[in-house]
Amino acid sequence: ATEKQTLGFQAEVKQLLQLMIHSLYSNKEIFLRELISNASDAADKLRFEAINNAALYENDPELQIRIAVDKAARTITISDNGIGMSRDEAVEHLGTIARSGTKEFFSKLSGDQQKDAALIGQFGVGFYSAFIVADRITVESRRADLPADQGVRWESGGEGDFSVETITKPTRGTDIILHLREGEDEFLSAWQIKSVIRKYSDHISLPIRMQKEEWDEEAKEMKTTEELETVNQASALWARSKSEITPEQYNEFYKHVSHDFQDPLTYTHNRVEGRSEYTQLLYIPAHAPFDLWDRNKRGGIKLYVKRVFIMDDAEQLMPVYLRFVKGVIDSNDLPLNVSREILQESRDVKVIREGSTKRVLGMLEELANSEDAAQKEKYASFWKEFGQVLKEGMGEDAGNKERIAKLLRFASTQNDSDEQNVSFADYVARMKEGQDKIYYVAAETFDAAKNSPHLEIFRKKGVEVLLLTDRVDEWMLSFLNDFEGKELVSVAKGDLDLGKLEDEAEKKQHEETEVQYKELVEKMKTALAEKAKDVRVTFRLTDSPACLVADENEMSANLVRMLKAAGQ
Ligand code: ADP
Ligand code: MG
Repeated sequence: ATEKQTLGFQAEVKQLLQLMIHSLYSNKEIFLRELISNASDAADKLRFEAINNAALYENDPELQIRIAVDKAARTITISDNGIGMSRDEAVEHLGTIARSGTKEFFSKLSGDQQKDAALIGQFGVGFYSAFIVADRITVESRRADLPADQGVRWESGGEGDFSVETITKPTRGTDIILHLREGEDEFLSAWQIKSVIRKYSDHISLPIRMQKEEWDEEAKEMKTTEELETVNQASALWARSKSEITPEQYNEFYKHVSHDFQDPLTYTHNRVEGRSEYTQLLYIPAHAPFDLWDRNKRGGIKLYVKRVFIMDDAEQLMPVYLRFVKGVIDSNDLPLNVSREILQESRDVKVIREGSTKRVLGMLEELANSEDAAQKEKYASFWKEFGQVLKEGMGEDAGNKERIAKLLRFASTQNDSDEQNVSFADYVARMKEGQDKIYYVAAETFDAAKNSPHLEIFRKKGVEVLLLTDRVDEWMLSFLNDFEGKELVSVAKGDLDLGKLEDEAEKKQHEETEVQYKELVEKMKTALAEKAKDVRVTFRLTDSPACLVADENEMSANLVRMLKAAGQ
């Protein structure tokens, strides 16, 4: 179709637009960051497609972003010579939200403006944020592999619908023309635009160019000249040396690669030399994304080869249990035409994944072991957001399981709160004289764990027990027999041997009691023959009359429940 069409936005887009305009107004300058980020992505995509098709560069090989202000027309135009969009792509990408986690996001909205603003931040605002300052947006684009007469003009007032028509566009790439709302004239100042670029987009590796301004003595005002100047540093941030990068620049770069709106929790930046040469800049987000539990999600690492963008979400570069990590890995060894299939086989990739895994674990250890209260607080916050996912590593990454075990945090009878803040090391340091095992109880809820009759004897003796209530806990512990030589034991297991925790007098008393009740036990065994495998006198209860235990070699009741729930 070449005629002009008017189409409605997807319902979610309408809702997002409404929300965004109202809740992000105090932060409105971020629209520029979002549009520049998209332009940079578009250039990355062109460079990647051009690896196998150099003709895509046409006669315009230098990728760049141009920003122009027109005071008379009250417009700002952000132009790139990247991959561009076809008509169909414009309809799809600028009329719907395809991001994963969309459903979860919309179901979490509360109507409370402040809370929702924070949620939008987590979800990512993107292109639509331009409607905060513009009451009309015109997008003119032409995909790099299409002829000049197959350009597209997309236009919308940001309410319910948008129009598309086919146009002739000689240059490839995209121009985004913002018609500023009444009262947004501050963005007509080139000086203001430049300062926003330096603040949010300095890390963009393409040059962002604007016309230079000069003082006009006669008119007593700044006049734009024909000369162009590059506003940003225009070099890949991860390739610069650490000492030249400010924390703010690291944070802004994070927002660009992650599409997150908030600062990251922490990051690590290293150049690795040796058998495999690569640079890694890896971030841990402050908050879990909406699609953390989406099994099809690919992860958050962008792969570059010698500064050339190769792919988003290169899942081979990070194990699944670290899928929340975002960032960039730039390899010097991989071929430019590397595909996902090649990545799977590559030895270089294996080396990179192992190295990056160690880095991430190191970064977490640094927070966890820090004496600094703020760092410790960060680890607690990390654990709340991502602890459940990290636990998967106990099964997935046998080589690092000792390191992961040290990063685990549990609730415990020590503080009787459901906050998970006790490490194995904390537990071991508090072990009683004569205690040589780590005890835990697993249950479906915190209350069930805390009130478990199995705990009675432990409470009486003042022995700490870890309270495990997350679904993956027992599965996870099945990969760990001991922590630094201290065997992990469920208090619900059959022959609970308290070993040296029992004194001689108690042992003697127990033996006598067993003899005394022998007859009763035999009667009960006969009566319960169908229902119980065994009946025993127990000394672990102090208040409850009886409890059920699992056989030494059998799965615990809780694990059985969990596997059933998982359909096995
Ligand atoms: P995101 O960048 O997170 O994908 P956006 O809302 O910022 O989300 O952009 C939506 C989509 O629109 C992009 O994924 C891209 O496909 C397309 N798009 C936006 N700006 C451009 C551009 N300058 N050039 C090419 N495609 C673009
Ligand atoms: Mg974007």
